[in-house]
Amino acid sequence: MDDAQLLRYSRHILLSELGVDAQQRFGESHALIVGVGGLGNPAAQFLAAAGVGTLSLVDADRVDLTNLQRQILFDTAAVGRFKVDAARARIGAVNPEVKVLTVPARVGPGELAPLVAAADVVIDCSDNFATRHAVNRACVSARKPLVSGAAIRFDGQIAVFDLRNPANSCYHCLFGEGDEFEETRCATMGVFAPLVGIVGAMQAAEALKLLAPAGRSLAGRLLLVDALTMEWREVKVLKDPACPVCATGGH
Ligand SMILES: [Zn+2]
Repeated sequence: MDDAQLLRYSRHILLSELGVDAQQRFGESHALIVGVGGLGNPAAQFLAAAGVGTLSLVDADRVDLTNLQRQILFDTAAVGRFKVDAARARIGAVNPEVKVLTVPARVGPGELAPLVAAADVVIDCSDNFATRHAVNRACVSARKPLVSGAAIRFDGQIAVFDLRNPANSCYHCLFGEGDEFEETRCATMGVFAPLVGIVGAMQAAEALKLLAPAGRSLAGRLLLVDALTMEWREVKVLKDPACPVCATGGH
């Protein structure tokens, strides 16, 4: 790192748990962010400010006026632009050293596989179960750590699924696939603005810890927050030995 970089990242370098080595690794790392909405905005912003070298941003949507209540990378002039383009412009202003790759499209399993393979950590900030399960499958298959987040109304949740250790659970172990899960959408249910910041920032924190590596990740735990009472709960997440996605078989 040059002098300007040592200065820019000095508050991380001061942390003995990170230091120059972890900061160097951030710069050499590639994070994939699926969904650049309420969660993806703060996640991308913190990863960019913290100097993660390459960010891949995936989102098919354009900025809508209703997004501005909580999606803090976007300003009024961005309404109508692709979210990935507006986010790239804002990130470039915050930290020009970050390389931002954009995918302004909905992605299925075929598109996700190479995107996940190229990443060191995957952050799921999407808003639908089909994408969440497709991202999980790609992460399990490529053995890439997945930082998952969700927020609706006043309810938020964060979890890490890290199949680099095959004893860990995947997203499917926790949330099976099927019609019994009714899709709940911000457009009809509403969402409390700072909640997406809380959850998205925590996803960035888990991603940076995985990249460093530092501390203990949320793997094996699901954190739930009710922002109305600001009560947090932690639920142990067990691996499903019969999980069709991550079970290793041989039994
Ligand atoms: Zn599983």
